Amino acid sequence: MTAEQIKAQLTKFGVPFQEYKDWATHNRNHKGPWGPVHGFMVHHTGSDAKDQREMLYAGFSDLPGPLSQFGLAQDGTVHLIGWGRANHAGSGDPDVLEAVKAETDIPTDNESTVDGNRHFYGVEIWYSGTHKMSGAQYATLRLLAAAICDFHDWTEGSVIGHGEWGSPGKWDPGIKAGTMMDMDAVRADIKATISAGKPTTPTKPKPEPKPEPKPAVPPFPGAGYFRPGARNSYVTQLGQQLIKRGYGRFYSVGAGPTWTNSDRQAVRAFQVAQGWSGSGADGYPGPETWRRLFS
Ligand SMILES: [Zn+2]
Repeated sequence: MTAEQIKAQLTKFGVPFQEYKDWATHNRNHKGPWGPVHGFMVHHTGSDAKDQREMLYAGFSDLPGPLSQFGLAQDGTVHLIGWGRANHAGSGDPDVLEAVKAETDIPTDNESTVDGNRHFYGVEIWYSGTHKMSGAQYATLRLLAAAICDFHDWTEGSVIGHGEWGSPGKWDPGIKAGTMMDMDAVRADIKATISAGKPTTPTKPKPEPKPEPKPAVPPFPGAGYFRPGARNSYVTQLGQQLIKRGYGRFYSVGAGPTWTNSDRQAVRAFQVAQGWSGSGADGYPGPETWRRLFS
């Protein structure tokens, strides 16, 4: 991630931030390698001082700054301190680094052989560690972690506490003297923040299922086609439709082009079923019989 990219990510996730001095080019890349970056490491500074920017920026004579990329103030503001290699992680356990890369459970650290400053972004949270960080700090920590993970397509498995890394005696970020936060719980919270921050793809509304198109009613050809002695394709069509509609019992040999008594009986039965009688049920189809039969 470039300095511009991290600013864009912070904006995207609504992380309140301020830029300190020439943070974007302030780093220790001239003292050692930077990247590939595999994770994000969380620290407490060990101090409750209200402004720790310069301390993180300049560092100490035996530990020159920047001491991290991010400082996190009590009010929840992220201060951008440096960008690139920073002196926050020291050396750590290669097994832990592998677990971070694979985003699997973090094993117990028992080695200090890998350069952590090369492979981790770090946030120094401005509190002593002998008490909990402020609510604003924790809320921002979740957003900051989500912003970083989102950019790299990482899960919460890429976030660790310094105390999980391998410098002996480290217990940061702490909740009381000597006791580290439950980092699995922190990761679970970050996971929730990551999923909440992902832009949701709007689900397309399902199109209404198309109603089965009703076959169009063929036009009634005229009463003259359905008379004793008539022989035409309309008679066949009529008979086939009557059979389809359940009047096949009147046909011994199926529908055919010649008008027969079977046709008349079937038509009459259909007409009676419509509630018609008398001339309405004479067995000869008119326009209404035809329409109903084919509807
Ligand atoms: Zn630390």
